[in-house]
Amino acid sequence: MKQKNWLSIVLSFATQCRTKIILSVVFAIGSVTAGLVPYLSVYQIITQFISGAPEMNDVWKWCLIGLVAYAVRFLCYGISTTLSHVSAYTILENIRLKLAQRLMKAPLGTVLNESVGKLKSVLVDRVETIELPLAHMIPECISNFMLPIAVFIYLVNIDWRMALSMLITVPIACVAYAMMMKGFNKQYADYMESSNYVNGVIVEYVEGIEVIKAFNQSSSSYEKFAKAVASFKDYTLKWYQSTWKYMNFGNAVLPSTLLGTLPVGMLLYVCGSLTPQDLVMCLILSMGVVGPLMNFTTYLNEMKTIEYAVHDVDKLMNVTELPDVAEPAVLESHNIELKDVCFAYEQDGKQVLDHINLMLPQGSFTALVGPSGGGKSTIARLVARFWDVTEGAITIGGKNIKDIPLSQLADVVSFVTQDNFLFNCSIKENIRLGNPSATDEEVYAAATAACCDEFVLALENGYDTMAGDAGNRLSGGEKQRISIARMILKNAPVVILDEATAFTDPENEEKIQRSIAALTKGKTLLVIAHRLSTIKNADQIIVLKDGQVHKTGTHGQLLDTDELYQNMWEAHIGAKNWSAGSLERRNDCV
Ligand code: ADP
Repeated sequence: MKQKNWLSIVLSFATQCRTKIILSVVFAIGSVTAGLVPYLSVYQIITQFISGAPEMNDVWKWCLIGLVAYAVRFLCYGISTTLSHVSAYTILENIRLKLAQRLMKAPLGTVLNESVGKLKSVLVDRVETIELPLAHMIPECISNFMLPIAVFIYLVNIDWRMALSMLITVPIACVAYAMMMKGFNKQYADYMESSNYVNGVIVEYVEGIEVIKAFNQSSSSYEKFAKAVASFKDYTLKWYQSTWKYMNFGNAVLPSTLLGTLPVGMLLYVCGSLTPQDLVMCLILSMGVVGPLMNFTTYLNEMKTIEYAVHDVDKLMNVTELPDVAEPAVLESHNIELKDVCFAYEQDGKQVLDHINLMLPQGSFTALVGPSGGGKSTIARLVARFWDVTEGAITIGGKNIKDIPLSQLADVVSFVTQDNFLFNCSIKENIRLGNPSATDEEVYAAATAACCDEFVLALENGYDTMAGDAGNRLSGGEKQRISIARMILKNAPVVILDEATAFTDPENEEKIQRSIAALTKGKTLLVIAHRLSTIKNADQIIVLKDGQVHKTGTHGQLLDTDELYQNMWEAHIGAKNWSAGSLERRNDCV
């Protein structure tokens, strides 16, 4: 697919602040125009003195005009940059908000498959890069570009030969810049690849520091880290070395406009076709374009960085959203049905679920068991619509979940995973996330039902303790009970528990089972359990193997008829007996 032009993308971001940006450009042009007036004043004053009989009133008048214009120039410039900065930061804020909303609406897989480092880099650094074109380049480039053009027109007015002589350095510098830019696109692509690799290694190093230390791998991991950083340095230095001669030559030649204007001006003066005041004026003006021209070339360098940043932001801004509907759905019941469901995580990828048919009646307790990788978690995620099924349909109360608005579905389904993420606010507010309109009493009641009282009240500020402060002191099981309290408060009619009891100690286990019982009473419950003993009483147990339903039945029925289930049960009982006298062993196969 053809990539969109980066400037048109930037301008599309800018539509919301169009008036401010246009005004900013107008003031930038005003600033450039006012900047020319002092030159005109100098010209008039020189003319007065060269005439031999200067009119002092006129001289003072032109001094004043020059001074006022100089002040107007900076005033206009100030207004222009203020307007462009206000617009730029408003636009950055909106881009970040839009990106966050987009991520919320994208399938969870799209978000999870990106590394945290990459997402942070786009949301923070890349978006920040867009500030440069919006706040500086659009107004400043226009003025920096316009000033030389205005000077050129003015010089043409004085003497076209002087105007042309001012441009003598431009083709020479262009040749140098062209040599510098040879293979630039390829070099820059390599540079970005190299830079992304280093970022990845750095994030991996920081994120994995616990594992690195635990396995005493600090020297080998540090080596990979140091190698990546060193090779990035070598690459950038090599690139710089191959271009700096051309760059410096171009930068030295381009502003040396006197190379053309001085000899040509002298010649014309000697031949009598240029007055002395015109000669002085042309020399002064030609030197006045140096600054803006140099600023302009600096932006040329920045453009590629911006182009990459803009495309990264645009890509994330355009990730596919899960299709949503606006009309709230009327659900007859909370029966869940999977009809001929097939699913692959990637297009044309491995089929993870193969024609699954399941019925979970309202208020029933269904358990998914089976060997690791069989597709248990995938089914749970599909019911919560973290992804869309590839084929078939999932219905709740007879309605295809694709026809239920995502926000309504989120209210209907509670998903308890082993990822017990606590936000950096008080424990009370963390629980209240389950139902933002709940009163304090309702929050405390949910916490009590989830067996949180005993450990939360022991914290310095009880339920008002910040989760960040308490984070290190809370065990995995305690964090899990806080998450369960959140779900109890949410009180959704469908509850999915994905390996919720996987990493808990026996003492916690009992409390967690009690809190789960409080959470799931009367709900349509789907559980993926590690320990078969916790799902013995399920209304139906589904044995999943290689993405297919291998067998369905109650615990008793499966023990009598299914060898795979018998083996899993025996392994579980064996593990339990073994754990009685030793450490609790975690059986990972169910
Ligand atoms: P279970 O819960 O039974 O252990 P899962 O549903 O987690 O099984 O996984 C089923 C299959 O899907 C496995 O082969 C696994 O590798 C694959 N899988 C799981 N999550 C993803 C993902 N986010 N992207 C790609 N493949 C995945």
